[in-house]
Amino acid sequence: MKLSDPRLFRQHAYVDGKWTHGNGGREEAVINPATGEALGHIPWLEAEQLHGAVDAADEAFVQWRALRADERCERLLAWYDLLQANREDLATIMTLEQGKPLPDSRGEVEYGASFVRWFAEEGKRTYGDTIPSHIPNAALGTLKEPVGIAALITPWNFPLAMITRKAAAAMAAGCPVIVKPAGETPFSALALAELAERAGIPAGVFNVVLGEPAEVSRLLCDEERVKALSFTGSTRVGRLLLEQSAHTVKRVSLELGGNAPFIVGPDMDPKEAAYAAVAAKFQTAGQDCLAANRILVHESIHDDFVEHFVERMSALTVGNGMDSEVDLGPLIHGQAVEKAASIVDDAISRGATLVAGDQTQAPGPNYFMPVLLTGVTRNMKVWNEENFAPVAGVTAYSDDDQVIAMANDTEYGLAAYVYTHDIRRIWKMLRALEYGMVSINSVKMTGPPVPFGGVKQSGLGREGGVTGIEEYLETKYYCLGGL
Ligand code: NAD
Repeated sequence: MKLSDPRLFRQHAYVDGKWTHGNGGREEAVINPATGEALGHIPWLEAEQLHGAVDAADEAFVQWRALRADERCERLLAWYDLLQANREDLATIMTLEQGKPLPDSRGEVEYGASFVRWFAEEGKRTYGDTIPSHIPNAALGTLKEPVGIAALITPWNFPLAMITRKAAAAMAAGCPVIVKPAGETPFSALALAELAERAGIPAGVFNVVLGEPAEVSRLLCDEERVKALSFTGSTRVGRLLLEQSAHTVKRVSLELGGNAPFIVGPDMDPKEAAYAAVAAKFQTAGQDCLAANRILVHESIHDDFVEHFVERMSALTVGNGMDSEVDLGPLIHGQAVEKAASIVDDAISRGATLVAGDQTQAPGPNYFMPVLLTGVTRNMKVWNEENFAPVAGVTAYSDDDQVIAMANDTEYGLAAYVYTHDIRRIWKMLRALEYGMVSINSVKMTGPPVPFGGVKQSGLGREGGVTGIEEYLETKYYCLGGL
């Protein structure tokens, strides 16, 4: 791996400010999905080492929470500066382990760093309340206190930003963190640890543990001293972790799967809407919880929309994310390619039309060429499952009530897109859509100041914004009597 600072490429866990081998000698290869070659190896920690990480965080908590908010802010801002200064190396690491095109990786570093800066400042505003007293001779109020050690379990599709969105909020609130990144993309997490150390974040405040996922997660859930669990990943694993956290009654935040509808009203310019839909579907090769999976287009503009969609989609270049000019990198591994192919086959066997998508053009075994299906119906997997691949499905509808029912016809409720300029339609959809986030006439919707999260089986809690830091704060009520 060619980096201008090779020390950012770490192949050890990071616990209590030290780079750590696995005591049991177990390790795992990390594969570049674009080439199938091993980028390096990571150790799997043993149970006593994982308990050791909790010991370290527990000890660090005393010192970290005792710092003034502006002192924590300074350290987090130093971390932010280092993320920016090392953006190119961080982007290279990300593209090599995740596969996304280099410009997208640069964008993710920028996006991930922006949470560090925002929460660094927000940590200074974790105000309590003064409550007008209903008790004679008493003063009432609340204090905001850090909840304690937070375990952060993150996915491979956004290897850096899914960590900083959680860790910056937790650390600004005064909580030490134990990060368990996805085994597919650990090197971004470890580079974050290297830079946290250089930024003067004290030992034990930011830890990265590596290991067998179910083993690590079970141990962190069982640990009484871990007070909060924040998970981003699939709904299947999220449910499991919620169950496992019940024994120790943890504060649980879950950012789970999505199956976003993309509604196009009859008043829209079909070309403008089609271009926006392509942008909302194919980011990160469709491996995005916000990907526009179910594209619902008014019947009056359906055919024009499809034509423009195909024209735009066909211009996308698929290849190794390290090559300039590439729009879509590989999928994360071979199983993801198999799953995408089975979803397309299922749709065709149930009557959908394959309008575009030619898998024979794939540049390698982990690549999946963009697909457009029309005539998608609710009995197909492509409607019901998060496909996490560059597979787009279009369905025609005839009126607003019908499309609202279609959009809500899923167990997921993360994000929805609406494209129309009719203000009455906008308001009606905004109120009726059962989603945590609704984006109207915009593909871009996320960022540090806004609450990110879903309803239904898409999760619990919110990340980002003022609600994001609340996930790591306890409200302590006080009644000061005898005044
Ligand atoms: P995943 O659930 O397989 O893995 C997520 C994390 O959980 C990884 O760290 C993994 O190692 C760990 N894990 C896997 N199996 C486990 C088990 N049995 N017990 C405990 N931990 C386990 O998800 P993924 O495939 O890495 O990511 C894709 C999913 O993440 C998609 O469903 C996507 O929608 C979701 N996602 C959601 C958001 C959001 O903010 N809502 C953002 C990004 C991704």
